[in-house]
Amino acid sequence: METSYRTAPHASKEAFAVAPGVWGLKTVFVNLYFVASPDGSWVLVDAGVYGAAPKIRKVVDELFGGKRPKAILLTHGHFDHIGALKELAREWEVPVYAHPLEMPYLNGKSSYPPPDPSVGGGGMAYMSFLYPKKPIDVSEYLELLPTDGSVPGLPDWRWVHTPGHTAGHVSFFRESDRLLLAGDAFITRDGESMLAVMTQKREVHGPPKYYTSDWGSAHRSVEKLMELNPGIAATGHGLPMEGGLLMRQLEELVKDFWSVAVPGQGRYVHEPAIADEQGVLSVPPATDNTIPKVIAATGIVALAGVALVAYARRSGQDNRRKQQERAMRVRPFSHNRPLQGIPPTVAATLDEDDPQAHTNNYP
Ligand SMILES: [Zn+2]
Ligand SMILES: [Zn+2]
Repeated sequence: METSYRTAPHASKEAFAVAPGVWGLKTVFVNLYFVASPDGSWVLVDAGVYGAAPKIRKVVDELFGGKRPKAILLTHGHFDHIGALKELAREWEVPVYAHPLEMPYLNGKSSYPPPDPSVGGGGMAYMSFLYPKKPIDVSEYLELLPTDGSVPGLPDWRWVHTPGHTAGHVSFFRESDRLLLAGDAFITRDGESMLAVMTQKREVHGPPKYYTSDWGSAHRSVEKLMELNPGIAATGHGLPMEGGLLMRQLEELVKDFWSVAVPGQGRYVHEPAIADEQGVLSVPPATDNTIPKVIAATGIVALAGVALVAYARRSGQDNRRKQQERAMRVRPFSHNRPLQGIPPTVAATLDEDDPQAHTNNYP
């Protein structure tokens, strides 16, 4: 099963071989990939966490003799995938390709829909020192991915739009060996388990919950990737997986998506964030759990005291009522498509749910 990785070319101490001409590098908790072409050129897919540039340069020296890539491709623009982007794009003077719907988060126009701490963000909060303070702006290097699905710098690859985790999320696919770079459309370790992070257990999971703002689209995207029948999948978080195990677990994820991947409750569970090429248009109201956290985080409680707490309680009740009403309706993002698996329910656990009790350790 894993011997094919070992027999693949491996010329770097830091990077792990994925398939012929493809290497991955883990920066703290997120992967990026080096993809070579038969003509000796190469591209970088994603750019790791902030501070990853020296490690990336070292691998570039080992694998490509320090030669700069033809381009940098982005699966999406979350902070943990673009940490070294600006520094490297400037140094290499290469274009950065992304999907049109991802542009506003890369040219400084918009922030992403707010993350949802109510689905468990302990680990993410812990890693907050890595967060950028404002949206990144790499507009001078930005280019749109070609509309025909071709991938600049990689003639035998194509890109696939896989929205849901973010609106402009894409995956990259090499037909010849059915190799898939899936970004965060799905991941290959349990993002919610610290043990899984430590043991590096390979297992197919849905996109990281904390940052996923459209679960209906995320579901369809995993289905789209399953239909590609990938032979190997290398993702943003976790080690590569391949063969029958990969396909079996992908099929299970698609079938049971609403019960295993979508959180039981949370801001985006019943209503997605809406975004276009200009940025975020609307987001559903924060759920019950997030209101006290937001207030605590901004210190408003200390300033406004009792009145605000009372307001938060009232709007919490309003939110709960609205959420229950929403749950009774057909979910807008289902697009009238019959859902597979168990549809989510909200009402049962809302009252007793304690955000502090979550054991979520994503990233
Ligand atoms: Zn992400
Ligand atoms: Zn990620």
